Amino acid sequence: MTTDMRAALLTSTGGPDGLSVARVPRPRPGLEEVLIQVEACGINRVDILIRDGQTPTAPPLPHILGCEVAGTIVEVGPGTRPGWLPGDHVVSRPLMSCGLCRACRTGHDNVCDNLKILGVDAPGGYAEFVVVPQRGLLRLPGTVSARTAAAVVGTGPTAWHMLVTRGRLQVGETVLIIAGASGIGVLAIQIAKRAGARVIATAGSASKRERLLDLGADEVVDHMSERWHRQVRQLTGGEGVDLVFEHVGQATWASSISSLRKGGRLVTCGGHTGFDVSLNLWPLFAKEIEVIGSFAGTTQDLHQVFGAVARGEVSAVVHGSYGLEEAALAQRQLEDRSSVGKVVLVP
Ligand SMILES: [Zn+2]
Repeated sequence: MTTDMRAALLTSTGGPDGLSVARVPRPRPGLEEVLIQVEACGINRVDILIRDGQTPTAPPLPHILGCEVAGTIVEVGPGTRPGWLPGDHVVSRPLMSCGLCRACRTGHDNVCDNLKILGVDAPGGYAEFVVVPQRGLLRLPGTVSARTAAAVVGTGPTAWHMLVTRGRLQVGETVLIIAGASGIGVLAIQIAKRAGARVIATAGSASKRERLLDLGADEVVDHMSERWHRQVRQLTGGEGVDLVFEHVGQATWASSISSLRKGGRLVTCGGHTGFDVSLNLWPLFAKEIEVIGSFAGTTQDLHQVFGAVARGEVSAVVHGSYGLEEAALAQRQLEDRSSVGKVVLVP
């Protein structure tokens, strides 16, 4: 039995050249852990932030990135709950929660006091094998492929948490999905339609706008045009939308706020174009606007979204699949914003 594996190693920060394939020892599962043969691993923006050295804390190098893992269990560590066996087709939650703290015990395990993230605080899925905690496993039905699961496991629960859990989206409301062609946007459009909302999405090219209409968006506006929030207002009879789904940050923040109706809600989970935004308090209180923070998704959100995927109510949108040696190219697909949906590594 071979005891090593191929992995796309991050050996230096500062750009895609820091990634290269090497043979490394195959990890072994410890207490309450399993070893998974990786069949697909989604590329997440956090991978690129770590690669570029832009995170507040960085893992020691060399490091294996990748938090969105799906595959087959090949070895079960000591102390795991009965029922998990080699051969099981699974997806692993990117967040590793302790299960013990107050947040975990009250159903808010996305904000666990002892939170760790796969591929950030532990070696991730840009490899043939990865060790993950049994606590974060979800069994996949045969109808859901590893590629689909890897494309959904990070962004799906995040989108669900934003729209349903935190955003309280109701039937008949209008939601504005910023950057609808992104990995999270394509799922948010489908989740919002499933919830009975009218969906206005934004996209930066004609081909992306067409694609988003095919995915179910009712209207799509061009966020490259100046003052695009005026188009959003026109589409809502001058009123503005009930909920804005914001994950871009500085570049879209002002227009996102301007797109809200009186009493509207803005839910935000990210800001890869910049975290520092300005907020004018006058419209905030005069229009009774709510600004809501949202962080990833809970185990409950994960189960909800995979239930919807298994029933065919929400579909993964995979822009492309790449081998381990193409990890840098795969990340570039995400960075240059040419992709619609998720980019996935298939080791
Ligand atoms: Zn916890």
